Amino acid sequence: MRKSITLPQDVQFVLDRLEQSGYEGFIVGGCVRDALLDKTPSDWDVTTNALPEALCEIFSDLPTITIGKQHGTVAVVLHGHPIEITTYRIEGDYHDHRHPSSVSFTTSLREDLARRDFTINAMAYHPKTGLIDCFGGIADLLHGKIRTVGDPTKRFQEDGLRILRGLRFAGQLSFSIMPETKAAMRSQCSLLRHISPERIQAEFCKLLCSPGCSDVLRENSHVIFSLFPELHPMEHFLQNTPYHCFDVWEHTLHAIAQTPPDLTLRFTMLLHDSGKPAVYIEDEQGVGHFPGHAKYSTAIAEQITARLRMDNKTSQRICLLVRHHDLVLQPEEKWIKRQLNRFGQEVFFQLLAVHRSDTLAQSARCQPRLQTILDCAAIAREILAQQQCFQLRDLAVNGKDLLALGIPPGPELGQLLNQLLAAVIDGAVPNEKEPLLALIRKKWN
Ligand code: ATP
Ligand code: MG
Repeated sequence: MRKSITLPQDVQFVLDRLEQSGYEGFIVGGCVRDALLDKTPSDWDVTTNALPEALCEIFSDLPTITIGKQHGTVAVVLHGHPIEITTYRIEGDYHDHRHPSSVSFTTSLREDLARRDFTINAMAYHPKTGLIDCFGGIADLLHGKIRTVGDPTKRFQEDGLRILRGLRFAGQLSFSIMPETKAAMRSQCSLLRHISPERIQAEFCKLLCSPGCSDVLRENSHVIFSLFPELHPMEHFLQNTPYHCFDVWEHTLHAIAQTPPDLTLRFTMLLHDSGKPAVYIEDEQGVGHFPGHAKYSTAIAEQITARLRMDNKTSQRICLLVRHHDLVLQPEEKWIKRQLNRFGQEVFFQLLAVHRSDTLAQSARCQPRLQTILDCAAIAREILAQQQCFQLRDLAVNGKDLLALGIPPGPELGQLLNQLLAAVIDGAVPNEKEPLLALIRKKWN
């Protein structure tokens, strides 16, 4: 692990300016953690004993943005990038498990570090002073441990979101959660009910896209099911089918692990089989079936994405992929053109990715389907590369051509165009103007 941190010039400038003005300044929190792990920090936060008013004075020659003066954060904009400078602070009592009832400034860096959530997030650094690590952050970083600063139950009761943040860091860093912290996550998880959907969404999406996601969800399923009770029936739900070697929840976790870190795809895998327990039936041989489960999974997906206030585009896409996750693939040109027309290129390839993850989490006898998926992808790429016709806008005739033939405007015109497209996809007619017009004349008469 690194001992020294190389600061970006602008951050060094901020620390120097604070020092020249007679104040302390340190980088703090996530950027210290990430820099020590040799990861590029997403942003560099500075903490100081200078009060917000003094900060505005010190940086008066530069553009500054005050982010809630009473919260003590001033952002200095350097080369178009804001660097957030926050005055050392302590938080008062939390009455509602999510907002401190008061925030007061302090002159003690240690006190500021003590209010932070996890030891690995509670370190400060200055190139001259070196690392300030009051709570064993560096040891936990070395051993890959997530541990709250202070008593975990108390810290989660102050702000329930920390439970989910802890899982998120465990997933992102592939760290393990200390037993006491983990036990408190479990016992306090109902506190997550007090947290705004937007904050939950932000942390949960980071967890879902993290490298260690599946393991974290498996080991902390209690927390996940308290967030999403709709998913609980999947746990230990046996499938009794030769196509599956895992229960529904294990299958889901394996499928997520096989999925690239893309929010839409990972969310789809989390939800794709959530409707299975509701529709389970057994035949005379005792084999399990899940008729129409995709529809039920879609209803659950709609409910969960709405509750998390996800943006419409993402949630609609997730619901569409869940709805069609069990589409039967046909590695055949005509069928693929119809699907490209029906779903569009992007969704079609996403559906193939969903099939891949789903298959990789099924039993050995399903694995030949991987080849079918590859074949479908190859055929689709070929169709696209050759700019073959699979949608109305590729057709060699358009609405105007039909109007010119005397066909009145209206829904019938659209139907005729779609019939032409179907004929072209089926190879019944070449995608050329004259043959298409001839076909139209025949149909119209
Ligand atoms: P990321 O790399 O995702 O930004 P981060 O650790 O920087 O991770 P932020 O949400 O940017 O996370 O928060 C910055 C720092 O503020 C954290 O490292 C932590 O010290 C502190 N912090 C953030 N949220 C909380 C919280 N809910 N409770 C206590 N401390 C927090
Ligand atoms: Mg951050």
